[in-house]
Amino acid sequence: NEKILQVNKLRKHFHMGKEQILQAVNDVTFHINKGETFGLVGESGCGKTTVGRTIMGLYDKTAGDVLYDGQNVHELNDKETFQFYRNMQMIFQDPYASLNPRSTVKEVIAEPMEVHSLYPNKQAQLDRVIQLLEEVGLNRDHANRYPHEFSGGQRQRIGIARALALDPDFIIADEPISALDVSVQAQVVNLLKRLQKEKGLTFLFIAHDLSMVKQISDRIGVMYLGHMVELTSSDSLYDNPLHPYTQALLSAIPIPDPDIEDTRERIILEGELPSPINPPSGCVFRTRCPFAMDVCASKKPEWQEVEKKHYVACHLYDETLNQTNEPDIHIR
Ligand code: SF4
Repeated sequence: NEKILQVNKLRKHFHMGKEQILQAVNDVTFHINKGETFGLVGESGCGKTTVGRTIMGLYDKTAGDVLYDGQNVHELNDKETFQFYRNMQMIFQDPYASLNPRSTVKEVIAEPMEVHSLYPNKQAQLDRVIQLLEEVGLNRDHANRYPHEFSGGQRQRIGIARALALDPDFIIADEPISALDVSVQAQVVNLLKRLQKEKGLTFLFIAHDLSMVKQISDRIGVMYLGHMVELTSSDSLYDNPLHPYTQALLSAIPIPDPDIEDTRERIILEGELPSPINPPSGCVFRTRCPFAMDVCASKKPEWQEVEKKHYVACHLYDETLNQTNEPDIHIR
């Protein structure tokens, strides 16, 4: 597998005044292989969007590295940055907010092409716009209309067409289906899967729950309060979740088939998400973890490979602690 993106111990802290520091992302490490979809999942405020924006170079990093195709994205010169944005594009959660309401669909999609002077004349550009509309399930009749005339799902298709305008290799999809009706979510996920296959795209797919992520992701990373807590293949995460937070997220997903009796034990997380300005000591999940032990308050759990290519940060799996506490929750 060829790595296209490598994120090494990425840290992003924001200074909030009065010497307060918001620890949005703490030492997050993962990679993405060419042509795969990596799902990044966690509640709002867990830092997943900050990871996406820091990878895009929209935020400076506080520490660590982001390497795209071997290049450090925070050390690119202007020319390299311009080229980088041809290769890496973003799809946003709220397609309406990300589309200029005064521009027609045709203008919205053509804008990045103009910035990069991709086509020799307006006709060639328009031909490509219409081709893109068709690729995302719209058509030439939509080209002269305005974003407000479309449904949420159609607007997301327009956002996807715009993201494809520069023929990128890599797309960061930041909660692209969260604002859509459940019935439309599957359509957009299927569209992204088809486009990925046709164009060999690589995706970072950011989501706040695990319900649709399995459909699209090859591997999944789970974040909590600025930390990556578990990372493994999509199948392994759903069949054998190790971190108590992942187990809780999975237990919250309803079983889609109404004929199957849901006998799973629900894990209800107590308490609120702590503030990333003043995170708990030791394990950041300990204030809500049903398995918290004394050591969890004093020692930060190490990021370790517990099973083959299955990484987790939790003292329950730390053999050096010599404790007998075993997780006793089984999702299936
Ligand atoms: Fe829970 Fe402790 Fe594991 Fe953190 S380290 S998830 S508090 S058992």
